[in-house]
Amino acid sequence: MKVIVVGSSHGGYEAVRQLLMDHPDAEIQWYEKGDFLSFLSCGMQLYLEGVVKDVNTVRYATPEGMRAEGVHVFVQQEITKIDAANHKVTVENHGDHSTREESYDKLILSAGAVPAALPVPGKDLENIYAMRGRDWAIKLKAKTVDPNVKNVVVIGSGYIGIEAAEIFAKAGMKVTIIDLLPRLLSVYLDEEFTDILTKEMADHGIYAATGQTVQSFEGEAGKVTKVVTDQGEYPADLVVEAAGIKPNTAWLKDLLDLDETGRIKVDDYMQTSQKDIFAVGDAVMAKFSATGKEAPIALATVARRQGRFAAMNIDKPTHKFPGVTGSSALTVFDYKFASTGVKQGTSQKFGVDVKSVFVTDSKRPAFVPEKLNPTVYFKLTYDPKTRRVMGAQIMSKGDVTANINAISLAIQAKLTIDDLAYADFFFQPGFDRPWNIMNVAAQKAVRNEK
Ligand code: FAD
Repeated sequence: MKVIVVGSSHGGYEAVRQLLMDHPDAEIQWYEKGDFLSFLSCGMQLYLEGVVKDVNTVRYATPEGMRAEGVHVFVQQEITKIDAANHKVTVENHGDHSTREESYDKLILSAGAVPAALPVPGKDLENIYAMRGRDWAIKLKAKTVDPNVKNVVVIGSGYIGIEAAEIFAKAGMKVTIIDLLPRLLSVYLDEEFTDILTKEMADHGIYAATGQTVQSFEGEAGKVTKVVTDQGEYPADLVVEAAGIKPNTAWLKDLLDLDETGRIKVDDYMQTSQKDIFAVGDAVMAKFSATGKEAPIALATVARRQGRFAAMNIDKPTHKFPGVTGSSALTVFDYKFASTGVKQGTSQKFGVDVKSVFVTDSKRPAFVPEKLNPTVYFKLTYDPKTRRVMGAQIMSKGDVTANINAISLAIQAKLTIDDLAYADFFFQPGFDRPWNIMNVAAQKAVRNEK
């Protein structure tokens, strides 16, 4: 069997790994159109803040390493056309500018997404950057030490925008974050959390220009100098656009069924509308465990799981994709937060009626000295009709984010607030309180629903 895997990021990498385990005799060809295999955008912040020194280490596979495992690795080689009827692809080699055809028995696409650029006047000015992939990482790094950059405007307050804002604030620049939604990070956290984080960011010189729409970029001598919104003007020597992504599927639209967002339609086995072609990652929707419906969840965690399942189903559809909860975590200066599933603020978008309980507690028992005992904020969201756990958010200056993995599991296992109220979690004063904060919140929810 000859399998072609397209894309060397999370989804493609995991597909290759699973193929190596399940089909050691298969011929695996792995293609990356860029000049670097398997760059990890998730590691960009660590590189840009100088924690990781070498951009070339921000990866988890090298061509040499994968070749040693028997994979045929092709870098700077783009799959530009698929002839599904004849099981052939066209490969354009950007190194020597040649073109060739390759046959395949099975094809796995993890072509990902590209940052969405705002289609406003001035969009082609210099110094309007994105934050995804190694090339942008290198360009952004240069800006962190550029004395000409005093004002940075970040557009979009999802986790990528917040990472960008923190990077440049730590580099000593004045940062403004513009978002059309009324709150920063509103897809990840409800107000109880974002109120604290917005203040935390303001204390570090980051101004939140929320509820505003970007109307244009203005510049001088071809370079951006300000961002104009419907409510104000913000000086900018650098703009970082982090206002969403666009699935990289335009080249596939005549071949595969795409949905209205441009994502490739796949079934529960990651199979596309064409026989023997599978698709995974940011270019497809994900089954959201909280609702059982499809949702656009662009996370490495999703791409990696889907990559594994595409490879597991390569012979026949045996492994149904179990779904994901969209769990994520982030540090914002001194705070660490994580969230999963449905939040009160996203419930309408997901079409579910939910209720929530919010609890605040100290991390450890009261007798533990204050400096070792940070406040923990926790919100549990549930369906009042079925009592199912639907989501949760947690935040503290201590690291309590791992609790969210337990809630993720509760969502996947369809546990109720009654299950969670007395679920057995460890207690040790050096770590936590006698009742874990998840118990405390679920017990409160049970009382509320009596
Ligand atoms: P992509 O990562 O988009 O990769 C697709 C690859 O395919 C690219 O290398 C592209 O060059 C190549 N390609 C595309 N078309 C072709 C073609 N025709 N031929 C050959 N090659 C092709 N997620 C998390 O879970 N946790 C995090 O902490 C996190 N942090 C992030 C931080 C940043 C700054 C960014 C930008 C993203 C972050 N993500 C995180 C999201 C995560 O990176 C993506 O969800 C994930 O990379 C999606 O993987 P993918 O395989 O679908 O596609």
